[in-house]
Amino acid sequence: MNKPTPAAPAPASNFIRNVIDADLARDAYATRTWSGKPGPAAVQAGGAKDPARIRTRFPPEPNGYLHIGHAKSICLNFGLARDYGGACHMRFDDTNPTKEEQEYVDSIMASVQWLGFGWGDHLFYASDYFETLYAFAVAFIEHGLAYVDSITPEEMRALRGTLTEPGKPSPYRDRSVAENLDLFRRMRAGEFADGAHVLRLKIDMASPNINMRDPVIYRIRHAHHHRTGDAWCVYPMYDYTHCISDALENITHSICTLEFEDHRPLYDWVLEKLAGFGLLARPLPHQYEFARLNLTYTVLSKRKLIQLVDEKHVAGWDDPRLPTLAGFRRRGYTPEAIRLFAERIGVSKENSLIEMAILEDCLRKDLDERAARAIAVLDPVKLVIDNWPADRVETAEAPVHPHKPELGKRSFPIGRELWIEREDFEETPPKGFFRLTPGAMVRLRYGYVIQCLGCDKDADGRITAVHCEVMPDSKSGTPGADNYKVKGNIHWVCANGALDAEVRLYDRLFSVATPGSGDTDYLAQINPDSVRTIRAKLEPGLRDAKPEDRFQFERHGYFVADVHDSKPGAPVFNRAVTLRDTFGKGG
Ligand code: ATP
Ligand code: MG
Repeated sequence: MNKPTPAAPAPASNFIRNVIDADLARDAYATRTWSGKPGPAAVQAGGAKDPARIRTRFPPEPNGYLHIGHAKSICLNFGLARDYGGACHMRFDDTNPTKEEQEYVDSIMASVQWLGFGWGDHLFYASDYFETLYAFAVAFIEHGLAYVDSITPEEMRALRGTLTEPGKPSPYRDRSVAENLDLFRRMRAGEFADGAHVLRLKIDMASPNINMRDPVIYRIRHAHHHRTGDAWCVYPMYDYTHCISDALENITHSICTLEFEDHRPLYDWVLEKLAGFGLLARPLPHQYEFARLNLTYTVLSKRKLIQLVDEKHVAGWDDPRLPTLAGFRRRGYTPEAIRLFAERIGVSKENSLIEMAILEDCLRKDLDERAARAIAVLDPVKLVIDNWPADRVETAEAPVHPHKPELGKRSFPIGRELWIEREDFEETPPKGFFRLTPGAMVRLRYGYVIQCLGCDKDADGRITAVHCEVMPDSKSGTPGADNYKVKGNIHWVCANGALDAEVRLYDRLFSVATPGSGDTDYLAQINPDSVRTIRAKLEPGLRDAKPEDRFQFERHGYFVADVHDSKPGAPVFNRAVTLRDTFGKGG
């Protein structure tokens, strides 16, 4: 059994919570019985009163990895179950055998758990309901409410009508119950080729809602299913499967995105009819729609994400530039940051575009609190302290976290030769430059005050070393330190003992806020600088970083030891986010 979702502080209210509060106030679910497993009315009739006050579900189709949009839905559904003492069902909506794979099932479960949610023993698959779904379809036929249609997809499209014109009936609409039962049985038995027939509900071809114009509920697909193998060659369609799965599982609040608003009448029609047949127990579940997450500088369509991976525009589903949860994890995001983001953006019925900067800020807020500090020189140049004896090495100390003295101190060597950032020295400084420049004094963070003397250059004029003198009585933490008032404060790593490591500087995957909007090709808008791999000089203590350890590299941002490529002794770091929002600002 999977662990249940742990408790959390009270979240902000939203319109769905208001619905649930009202439902609970009038005890809307008091009469439900639950046998402990999904099933039709006959199964639930044998059960006791449902111990869960409300039941929600998270129903991904296992045809891709989960992304940050799914995280919004996960936080909502599992969060409601947690806060109301209910249950959230993890359900795989696996009715399309040609696009679904076990790899996706596994990655989806891993991502939900990583986000901090659990389903206890409520793990379900729509494919487990194939037999029930088939029996219910037979019941619709027997009640004269479904028929086998044998026209081509083109004919069906032509007869469907438009938003302004009603549809027209198929010539097969009035087949007899006996003929429909026979054809449907033979569809299941594999007598027909893909596309030869479909099963349709018989609702209303003139309905103003196109979803109600005799929707197709079964099609023939001679395809291997990742769970049911070759047992089936007819597969139920999403709209039919989804509402019935909800009812079989005793779901109370079935929450989906706004595109499904027009499908709600069909959802209710199917369940009302089946309850009328005596096949489903009341009260029936209800569908509620909320606005899907749209996020700037990325794409959240599974089709596009699959294309980015398949065509190798990125290095795989967990590429740190992708908005997949696996990608965010590898990028260095924490589950706490993503849950904070979901809480901050809230749940509403208005579609909107959320700034990536909001998500990045949630990560900064979380990691500022938690990440240990460390020093990294990303673009190193040598600094030589001319008046420091060649063989003298001292120890400098710095807090692990500036606001958490309880975490103690870290120490590292300081000697005659150090690595500093190339950009911290300017031979002819621009106005307002307070770092190293000939004659200027700066503090080596956690070390001494130095005065810059000048630099060495190679034949091409490139600076090869910067020279300085140390003020011996200025060491940080000693009484003499206060005698020096300097404006600049630069970070450094002692050349002796510095850790030489690969660092990957990730940035946003797209260089425009809404890739693919209008007529543009989103692939042409991939940010050419979305990753830069460098070799950096790091504080020696980082040698022991374990995969997924996160740090603030002072003045640079938050970094994580890569979950795959990093090994203790030979770490590889990914930049999760810069310290401030610098995207597109030359930072
Ligand atoms: P598909 O086009 O393959 O159906 P999908 O994005 O709807 O893609 P599902 O696997 O069906 O993917 O989604 C599972 C759940 O996640 C659904 O309940 C859906 O409403 C929700 N979801 C998907 N994308 C978003 C999004 N961008 N914001 C909020 N919820 C989302
Ligand atoms: Mg979907």
